[in-house]
Amino acid sequence: MTILAGVSVLLLFSCSNPFAERTSESIGKDSVILSDILKQVDSIAGWSQIDFEKLGIIAKMAYADTANFMHEKIYPCAKCFLRPEAAAALIKAADIAKKQNLRLVIYDCYRPRVYQQKMYDIVQNPDYVAAPGNGSKHNRGLAVDIALADASGVLLDFGCAFDDFSEKAHYTYQGISEQAKSNRKKLRDIMVEAGFEPYKNEWWHFNYSTVSYPSDDFLWNCN
Ligand SMILES: [Zn+2]
Repeated sequence: MTILAGVSVLLLFSCSNPFAERTSESIGKDSVILSDILKQVDSIAGWSQIDFEKLGIIAKMAYADTANFMHEKIYPCAKCFLRPEAAAALIKAADIAKKQNLRLVIYDCYRPRVYQQKMYDIVQNPDYVAAPGNGSKHNRGLAVDIALADASGVLLDFGCAFDDFSEKAHYTYQGISEQAKSNRKKLRDIMVEAGFEPYKNEWWHFNYSTVSYPSDDFLWNCN
């Protein structure tokens, strides 16, 4: 039912909305299938959008750019949607970071479920990208990929980049500097205090598991 509704909405927008064209271009050969599934919406009930500027958060939304492991821009623009409880926890994390003279750097929030398959097909390792069957908490608006920067916006050293899907990304990986280990702990402490759970295989990934929601497939409007 919702998928059919999504298709009708998309058909209505497909000729006049430049955003729809950009999406198709960026998704390339998968565009027909993805366009059939993604629901394009103007307002999203039951979700909260994070106001980067108001919270002093640095938005590095990786999939709204080509600087990611797929080298492909898959989101039409950089927006961060979360379920309200996770959004409240993220606001708390931003506040805790601020008190330590630090700023949050966000790489990903809600991720439409349809993209989970695309990412999984490339990485093919459930340690780093959740299998599409159950999906990821990103698909439910209950996960964030995040780092820390100093007050002037310079990214702290975490020992490896976000999206480094190797053992270097493991929280307890020993082959990094003491400073990087300390920064990983600093990030983890802030996020845990705010109510998130860490993920051992990726220093940047945090789940909000106090509530549960279904996966979704809406794609935000950039206007
Ligand atoms: Zn993640």
